[in-house]
Amino acid sequence: MEHRNAELTEKILSLKEKKRAVILAHNYQLGEVQDIADFVGDSLELSQNAARTDAEVIVFCGVHFMAETASILCLDKTVLLPDINAGCPMADMVTAERLRQWKRELPGATVVCYVNSSAEVKAESDVCCTSANAVKVIESLDSKQILFVPDQYLGHYISTKTDKKIILWPGFCPTHMRIQPEYLTRLRQEYPQAKVVVHPECKAEVIALADEVLSTSGMCRYARREDVSTMIVGTEIGIIHRLRKENPNKKFIPVSEQAVCPRMKLITLDSVLWSLQEMTPEVRVPEEIRSRAKAAVDKMLEIGRS
Ligand code: SF4
Repeated sequence: MEHRNAELTEKILSLKEKKRAVILAHNYQLGEVQDIADFVGDSLELSQNAARTDAEVIVFCGVHFMAETASILCLDKTVLLPDINAGCPMADMVTAERLRQWKRELPGATVVCYVNSSAEVKAESDVCCTSANAVKVIESLDSKQILFVPDQYLGHYISTKTDKKIILWPGFCPTHMRIQPEYLTRLRQEYPQAKVVVHPECKAEVIALADEVLSTSGMCRYARREDVSTMIVGTEIGIIHRLRKENPNKKFIPVSEQAVCPRMKLITLDSVLWSLQEMTPEVRVPEEIRSRAKAAVDKMLEIGRS
């Protein structure tokens, strides 16, 4: 297997040079895919990186909405998603049509959408947010009433940090739902010195047991702290590879080995090579949707800079 991966890696890296491509991988990707990437990060970091690169082709190793966000921000580049079936079930829990209907029922509210949403849903929203900047984005808005899509758990977590009235769409991440509070309680007893860090897509009962609630990029920064030697990690299991690689002398324990996102794992070295060879499947957002979705993403970036 190792020999095969080495061969595939060599082929991918040589083709990448020829096609003037850059490979971006999300923190939840398979370890071997993270290892061939030019940059590993969370969805927003990856899209910002995509916008900065002078490569002509972006091979986006993540899920569909992430490749769309890269396409929204990089009009002049070809964005490839090595497996077109790599969608996000949570993003699919809200559609533009259902969101338009919700807006009609609650006129006057401001729509904030988590970046884990389709380009069409972003186009219907006033502003986007990530798990790292959601509180800052919502606090910066004049509106007192917020419609938040699609993740009810992230939305609920934000509602504990602000006085704004947040109305939640009933979406959720099936992978983070596998992280149960009793697993965390057991691990805390086993590793009393460990820091417990969980993602805000987890259930409120899990969040209540954590020392820190962080995005994946926040977790990677937190792990570098001198006072962290053992970390219990409540998010998709792929991040453990990066945490161990960057902090070889520290211990990282996943709350649940079952917290695997099957769609993220559709991207493999084989599919990356095939995608570069065939220059497909390409993800491109139609201009009418792209310009409106970009306005919501740009507004978030503007708030982030303020
Ligand atoms: S981990 Fe959850 S939110 Fe992330 S891509 Fe998978 S299903 Fe979607």
